[in-house]
Amino acid sequence: MQKALEIFQEITQALLADEQLNPVAKYIPSAQIYDKLDLSLSHEGTDMDSFKKSLKDLVLATPRTATNAFFNQLFGGRNETAVLGDLLAVILNNSMYTYKAGGPMIAIEKEIIRNITDLLGWDDKSDGTLAAGGSMTNFKGILMARDAFDPKIRHKGGRADLVLYTSEESHYSIPKNTAFAGIGRDNVRKIPADSMGRMDVKLLRQAIIKDKSDGLHPIMVNATAGTTVLAAFDPFEEIAEVCAEYNIWMHIDGAYCGSAIFSDKYRHLLKGANLADSFTLNAHKMLGTPLSCSIIVVKDKKHLHGSFSNDASYLYQTDADDFNPGKISLQCGRRNDALKFWALWKSIGTKGLGELVDKQFHLGEVSRNYILNNPDYKLYSFDDSIGICYNYKDISARDICTALYEKSELMVGYGSFHGTEFIRFVTINYGNDEADILRYFKQVEEFVEKEMQ
Ligand SMILES: *Cc1c(COP(=O)(O)O)cnc(C)c1O
Repeated sequence: MQKALEIFQEITQALLADEQLNPVAKYIPSAQIYDKLDLSLSHEGTDMDSFKKSLKDLVLATPRTATNAFFNQLFGGRNETAVLGDLLAVILNNSMYTYKAGGPMIAIEKEIIRNITDLLGWDDKSDGTLAAGGSMTNFKGILMARDAFDPKIRHKGGRADLVLYTSEESHYSIPKNTAFAGIGRDNVRKIPADSMGRMDVKLLRQAIIKDKSDGLHPIMVNATAGTTVLAAFDPFEEIAEVCAEYNIWMHIDGAYCGSAIFSDKYRHLLKGANLADSFTLNAHKMLGTPLSCSIIVVKDKKHLHGSFSNDASYLYQTDADDFNPGKISLQCGRRNDALKFWALWKSIGTKGLGELVDKQFHLGEVSRNYILNNPDYKLYSFDDSIGICYNYKDISARDICTALYEKSELMVGYGSFHGTEFIRFVTINYGNDEADILRYFKQVEEFVEKEMQ
């Protein structure tokens, strides 16, 4: 291992130094990637020096997500404590299915889950688990909703009369997972959003009434905490009321902004989340842990066992179910995604996690103020959001974002809402400060002036 750790040190140092000078990796068109880098695999392998060079070139050419020039997706930055936890998880290489194989790592995962269910105000009937990303934790929510409605589906297979509701602004993993669950994409009702991007609960209720009168069975409403484009929060209390009235499973997809639960200042955005049956959040988004770290908690743990448990005498040989989370897992072998989050939480506490969240909302506010005070800009997003959607001088958002990327200037993307396309600037990297945000706007302005007009 010594040699590998030395190479790791050397390459990491080179990357960190280069990130200071070049926050955006040089753009390489995909058509040229095999010519620009030595990526080929061979029968014979390669000698140490050329191996090291290939590896270093590869690392230095890879898009940089930790710098103050990355605003492209719903993650960014590099939290050193969480990275340390993740590096140790790689060295240890446990599989998180049994206490026998994971030992205390199983206990820290349980500690994370217990603290999140406490924040939701749930009792010890609740439980949860981690899966390989928000798409997969949402999938688990859908499977539990389906099986709670009709436990026979596990054995007999799917049926075509179940319906799931989600807002038109929700994440694409919902219809995709509904297909996986054997419910079918056509049985997803995309409920229109109001002018601020939140699910219109009146239309939700109408859709449910219509489906029931057609003899169909509503099984789940997916509400979103942080919609993908506007980062809006659905009205959870009102949705919960509808779900209670019609006895429908309520899931909250908080992959993006569910971590507002950690903030005393912004927890109110999640008012009513305690009424949900299941809730997901991605620590690799607002909390800045390395990808991926996604958690689902469920109010009644019997559903986790109902949908996911399978006996396997070659695997579960010791300890009670409680400490054998393989029994509530999608996977068999499962990576230790808990340690990086536990390391971060252990070091800064719940209060510290809340401050990370507050910082992002603050940077969002700084961005909105800048936009509102500048007549060349038009703002499309709202207060209490970290997704800052805007247009500049009526120039195509798509053109600006693509040009910034191809000139290795900045990484930022575009989105649309109710038919208008705009730049989606995400203030999720809490390593940034106000100066970084203002520098971003200046940089785009200068770039447009120089390259696009
Ligand atoms: C990112 C995101 C997901 C998917 O999470 P992954 O970890 O990328 O699979 C789901 N829902 C919302 C609202 C998201 O923002």
